[in-house]
Order: sequence, then C-alpha cells, then structure tokens
Amino acid sequence: MRRAIYPGSFDPVTFGHIDMIERSAKIVDELVVAILNNSAKNPLFSVEERVSMLKEITNHVPNVKIQFFDGLLIDYAKKIEATIIIRGLRAVTDFEYELQIAQTNRIVNSEIDTIFLTTSLEYAYLSSTIVKEVASYGGDISHFVPEQLIPQIYEKYKI
Ligand code: ADP
Repeated sequence: MRRAIYPGSFDPVTFGHIDMIERSAKIVDELVVAILNNSAKNPLFSVEERVSMLKEITNHVPNVKIQFFDGLLIDYAKKIEATIIIRGLRAVTDFEYELQIAQTNRIVNSEIDTIFLTTSLEYAYLSSTIVKEVASYGGDISHFVPEQLIPQIYEKYKI
C-alpha cells in the first residue's frame, strides 16, 4: 500500500490545501494529512481545532486520514510507514526552502521521497497568513476558505 503524508500547519486550512488534498489522494492509496503541533509557531487555532476543521472539510475524500504530530516530520513519516511526503509549490519563493528540506530528509531517510505538486493557478496567491490578515480586519474570506469554517475564523478576532 502506498501511503503518503501531507504535512503542514493548516492554521487555518484553505482552498489551496483542500485542492492539494483532493489531488494527492488520487495518486496514493492513503493520504495522511499531518498537522504540525508546534506551539512555538503560536498558531491561531489549537491542534484539536485544526483536526476538527480538516476532518469536516475532507469527509468527501475516503482515503484521507487526519492526524497531528510533534517533532521531526521524517521520523513521524517513518513511524506511520509513509513512503512519500507531499508538499505544495506556489512560487519560486517556496522552492528554495522546500528543496533544502526535501534534500535533508532524503539524507536522513532515503526510503522516503518528497513529491511536489504545483499549486492550481486559482490558488497560487493563497496562504493561511493571507486568510488571517484579511479576517483580522473583518474582510471577506469566502474566496479563501470553505463557508462552514468562516464563523470559527472570525470568532478568533471577535468579529
Ligand atoms: P507550512 O507551515 O508547513 O508551510 P502550510 O499549512 O502553510 O504549512 O502549508 C502546508 C503545505 O501546503 C505546504 O506544502 C504548502 O506549500 C502547501 N500550500 C499552502 N497553500 C497552498 C496553496 N494555495 N496551493 C498549493 N499548496 C499550498
């Protein structure tokens, strides 16, 4: 069985992430969406909130599991017997950092490969940071995230 891991902060999940999840689920047998539980990043949403949001918006994709992890991604990937790491590339700015991480991971564990999917054009600009920035001013975020998540996001900013 070909199991892949799609790691990220997903703080919060956006249409860009959902597009990546739907596309990568088609090319593997099982896709584990792994939320990084890193309090040093000072996330807006707790890991429990992010798990629940991701579960809600991926329940139409049967071969997807939502989990969270602490520590090194490459160790977690090995632990869950994933052989592929999926990452998204939006622009050249993502590339340099992602390449370095992917090469480091290959040195640590050559059994696990990283596969990059290029972003769908309509989401190339989109990031969780943009969503938070717009939401913090009470702006319209309906182009960025699924409708059912909008109240939870505004609530964080008391909007
Ligand atoms: P991280 O902190 O690991 O970058 P993110 O939650 O921002 O976590 O992103 C997780 C993954 O999703 C990364 O591989 C990122 O490149 C990808 N991603 C984020 N936004 C988009 C988007 N709009 N289109 C495609 N991929 C994206």
